[in-house]
This record gives sequence, structure tokens and C-alpha cells, in this order.
Amino acid sequence: MNEPEKYISVPRLKSFPWLVHGFGLAGFTLDSLKKDGELASFLPVVMKQLHSRRVFFLDDPPRKKLAGDGLVTTRPGLLLVIKTADCLPVLLLDEDHRAVAAVHCGWRSTYQKILAVAVDRLRRQCGSRPEKLLAAFGPCIEKSCYEVGPEVREKFAVAGFETGLIFSASASEGRFYLDLREANRLLLTRELGLKPENIIQLDYCTFCQPQFYSYRRDRQKEQRLINFIGIKNLS
Ligand SMILES: [Zn+2]
Repeated sequence: MNEPEKYISVPRLKSFPWLVHGFGLAGFTLDSLKKDGELASFLPVVMKQLHSRRVFFLDDPPRKKLAGDGLVTTRPGLLLVIKTADCLPVLLLDEDHRAVAAVHCGWRSTYQKILAVAVDRLRRQCGSRPEKLLAAFGPCIEKSCYEVGPEVREKFAVAGFETGLIFSASASEGRFYLDLREANRLLLTRELGLKPENIIQLDYCTFCQPQFYSYRRDRQKEQRLINFIGIKNLS
């Protein structure tokens, strides 16, 4: 019998021999990272996530626990971890400079354009060119399951998002469905210079599909999906 799948990988990212990455399924925990043959040698970097726009560039392992929502590194052996339960995990990679990033994109970080901060770090610290970056969007709550109030739409409007492209009216008076993936995709392609063909989206919904954790469905504060990316030590 085959072992059950523990995390989802993206074929296009699997083609890089120097890279590890994955979007964890329910039951795959931080402890599981230590038991996985390929991942066990990595040092996981796990933040206290704040729904902010704070992104850290790491050239060494952090000395204390970081508080923020994005990590960027060129250093082999570090495993950048993002925990989610409905929010969108985004992994970025630059093949030319062997740089990677992991970003936690809930609605708050999204309207604050955390991906702009991550791409800026990649440019300044790693020499990345946005048009060469690859982005992989992991499982998140899909638009038709993600009803929000007018105050959320207002935040996106003020931040300059074209709300007509990412919100639609729900059946409930004055409420809207939010497309978190599309908001981040538009930000990357229209403002940040990534090519549409370099954005890979996984079409899973954490809310409808039981192999994922969903905060909206389960109301569990402890259960989080573990998403990760890292550069192998090939020497
Ligand atoms: Zn759904």
C-alpha cells in the first residue's frame, strides 16, 4: 500500500533539483517535517503570523522567533514555513539567483500588498527580476465560499484594487464574495511585473474539501496547514 499523500507539490517547481516545496494536507504538522527524509535536514523557520505586510530577508537562521507574514532567503538549508487555514499561501522562486520566498496572504495582508514587499526584497537583496519570478498559489478558500462584509471591500478599494474584478455581491444584503487568489494574481501581474504564465494556481478550496483545514469551517485555532519552500544543500 502506498503511504497517504502528505503535501501537494507543483510539477513545474519539482523540476528544479535544488528546490524543495510543498503545500501541506491536514495531518501534516511541523513535527512531520522532521520525519520526512528529504526535509529532515532543513531548519524550519516558523513565524508568529500577524496578518501584516512584514517580510524578512534571512541570510542566517533567525536568532529569535520572528513576527510577520513573509520570508525570503538565498541560504540553503532553511525551510521557509507559512501556516494557513483558508488564507492563501504563496511561494515565489527565482531560478537565476536561487532565491525563494514564502508569503501568508490572508485578506488583510493582501490589501496591504504584502507580495509587493516580498518582490521588493527579492529585487533588492537577491537581484531578482520580477519578469523571471515564478509564483505558486496553494490551496485557499475559494471565492464562492468566502463571504465578507462591506468593510473588507472598502479596504481593497482604498488600497487601489479594482474591486469589480475581485468582489461580487453575495445573496446576503450588503455582503460580498472575495477572490483572494485573483486579488494577489492581479497585484503580481499588473503592478509587480510578473508574467501571467509564471503564476501557477492550485484549484483547491480549503473550506469545501476535507483534506484541508479551514478556519471558517472548523473554528479550530490550532489546526494549520504547513506550507514550505527551501533551497537544498547540494555540496
Ligand atoms: Zn469552497
